[in-house]
Amino acid sequence: MTSPRRTAPRSAHALPKAVFFDMDDTIFDHSLTCRRALARLRRTEAPLRGQTLDAVWHEYARLLDIVQPDVLAGRITIQDARVERFRQLAQFCGREVSPADAADLSRRYRVHYQKLRRTIPGVREVLRRLRGRTVIGVVTNNEVAEQERKLDHLHLRPLIDFMIVSEGVGVAKPDPGIFLLALEKADALPEETVMIGDSWRSDVTGARNVGIRPVWFNRFHLSPPDPWPVRELDSFRSPVHTEAVLAGDVTERSSPR
Ligand SMILES: [Mg+2]
Repeated sequence: MTSPRRTAPRSAHALPKAVFFDMDDTIFDHSLTCRRALARLRRTEAPLRGQTLDAVWHEYARLLDIVQPDVLAGRITIQDARVERFRQLAQFCGREVSPADAADLSRRYRVHYQKLRRTIPGVREVLRRLRGRTVIGVVTNNEVAEQERKLDHLHLRPLIDFMIVSEGVGVAKPDPGIFLLALEKADALPEETVMIGDSWRSDVTGARNVGIRPVWFNRFHLSPPDPWPVRELDSFRSPVHTEAVLAGDVTERSSPR
């Protein structure tokens, strides 16, 4: 590989045969959509005003992380998980709410969330530039219908080659099975492929375990949990730099920092 060439022209970087993108918080801006939806919800819902917006947002993310493995494994329905999340969120804000009120909060949140959905800044341009030069697969843990709706709402279908959703294939990242299915679909070998995603466990470790080179999309500048050298991107604002990272034309950063 060559030395860093951040100002290289579009054709300078030898892209991998396939690039797999995570969806949530890599293409689709779940975190900031969630924050904005909670902000809207708090305008009308007193039970969620007992803490600052940032505190509520972080608690929401924490509760989501805890329950997600159970939802993905089918141990709890997504609907029950949502209601319970809002019951606990209200409790975090110092208010006890009934299951019916929690369900109502969840419904109202969802309306705001669906309306406010947006992509990560810059990713659309990155996908446009990559399209046709590499196979673009989305490999995501979630419900099929939810992810399909995102593709439509965000007009992403023309920008990707395929999407594999954990619910649809019965296996979720970081299980090697979902990556192997994606490789088959892309007709690519692991060493010809890059996986980019925000989750260290699902995307970075999952890809690495099957021999796919990971790129960690780390826009909140988290510390890596393991001392593995990994290439990182903290935004898609420079498509040229993004391509250099995907091509492996930049130095890996070793962790911890
Ligand atoms: Mg993600």
